[in-house]
Amino acid sequence: EATLGVMGGGQLGRMFVHAAQTLGFRTVVLDPDATSPAGLVAHEHIATGYEDADGLRRLAAVADAVTTEFENVPAQALLALAEHRPVAPGGAAVAVCQDRAAEKAHIQAAGVPCAPHAVIATAHDLAAVPDALLPGILKTARMGYDGKGQVRVADRAELATAWAALQQVTCVLEKRLPLLQELSVIVARGADGQLVNFPVQQNLHRDGILAVTQVPAPDVAPALAEEAVQCAGRIAAEMGYVGVLCVEFFVVADPADATAARLVANEMAPRPHNSGHYSLDACDLSQFDLQVRAMAGLPLVAPRLHSPTVMLNLLGDLWGDGRAPGRTPDWAAVMALPGAHLHLYGKASARPGRKMGHLTLSGATAEQVRETALRACALLGLPAF
Ligand code: ATP
Ligand code: MG
Ligand code: MG
Repeated sequence: EATLGVMGGGQLGRMFVHAAQTLGFRTVVLDPDATSPAGLVAHEHIATGYEDADGLRRLAAVADAVTTEFENVPAQALLALAEHRPVAPGGAAVAVCQDRAAEKAHIQAAGVPCAPHAVIATAHDLAAVPDALLPGILKTARMGYDGKGQVRVADRAELATAWAALQQVTCVLEKRLPLLQELSVIVARGADGQLVNFPVQQNLHRDGILAVTQVPAPDVAPALAEEAVQCAGRIAAEMGYVGVLCVEFFVVADPADATAARLVANEMAPRPHNSGHYSLDACDLSQFDLQVRAMAGLPLVAPRLHSPTVMLNLLGDLWGDGRAPGRTPDWAAVMALPGAHLHLYGKASARPGRKMGHLTLSGATAEQVRETALRACALLGLPAF
C-alpha cells in the first residue's frame, strides 16, 4: 500500500490528504502543530519541526513520495528528503518561490513581465532606488503572505521609515501599479514534462487577502486569458517544475494604448492555491487531484470546468470580532442556497484574517451563480463584489 507524504498541515494539506485518500493512498503529514487541519485527517501525523532530523527520517521511511502544501517549508529539508524519495515540487523550485527577488528573476528569465522593482538589501540599495518606483509597495523578500510584511510607501521618506520598521531585512520595492484586474493560473506539470492547466481565475483581494474568486473570469478577454496560461506554463517549464504551480497576475492598462490591457506576473506559489479551491466542486479534476497525480507519477489529464463558479473565502472575522464575540454564521441558511458547497477546515480557533473555510457557489450560468453568491454574501455579512 503506497503512502504519500506532505510537508505542512494547513487546509491545503488537508484537501491534499482527502484527494490522496480517495485514490486509496495512505497519507502522512509532517507539521509541528499537533492539531493541524491536515494532521487530524491523515493516517499518520509526525508532529515535529520541518527541519527535525527524526521527523524527516520518519517521513522518508514511510512516504513513497513527498509534496509540500506550504512554501515556507525549508528548501533544505526538501532537498534532504529528495535523497531518499521523489519530492515534487523539488527544493530548488520551492527556494525560488520563497524569495521574491529570485522569483522575479525567474519570471523574467521565462520571458514574462513583472512589476518594475528593486531589491533593497543594504542602505546603499535604499539610497539608489529610482524615483520611478514610487509610489511603491515595500515587500519583505521572504516569508510574507496575505499582505503581511508589506508596506505601501508614497515617497523616499516613507520608504526609509518602512524599511526600518521591517528591521532592514532584504526587501523588494515594487512600483504600485494601477490594477484593472487580478488573475491567477494554476498549472500541473509531470516529471515527463506534460503540462495541463485550469482556466484563468479572476480574484478580488481585500486588505491583501484573497476574498473572492470567479471562474470563468468575467472581465478578461480570451486572448489575455490565453496569454496568462502560456506564461504560467513557461514559468513552470523553465524551472523543470514537477507538481502544481499557481502564478498570480495583474492586468494593467497599457500606457501606450488606452484600449489595451497587459499582463504582469505578481508572484507564484509552489503548491495548490486558495484561488483554485473552486476546482473541488466545479471541475472534473481538482487541483489536489492533480497534485496527487503529479507526485505519484500518475497520468495528468486536463481538468475541465463543468460549472461556472464563485468562491468566497470565510475568514475568522465571521466568527465575531469582539463586538459580537462567539457569533457563528448561519450555515443552514447558506446551505439552503442552490449549488452551495461549504468547506470548513477544522481549525481550533478563529481570529480576524485567518482562513477558516471557503464557500463555493456553482450553477448552470455565470449570471445565476453570481446572484446566488451575492445572496450568500448578504447572509454572511460580507461585502458584495
Ligand atoms: P499571498 O497571500 O497571495 O501570497 P502576499 O502577501 O504574497 O499574498 P502579494 O500577492 O505580493 O502579497 O500582494 C497582495 C496584494 O496586494 C495583491 O494581490 C494586490 O492586490 C496588491 N499588490 C501587490 N503588489 C502590488 C503592486 N505592485 N501594485 C498594486 N497592487 C499590488
Ligand atoms: Mg505571496
Ligand atoms: Mg499574492
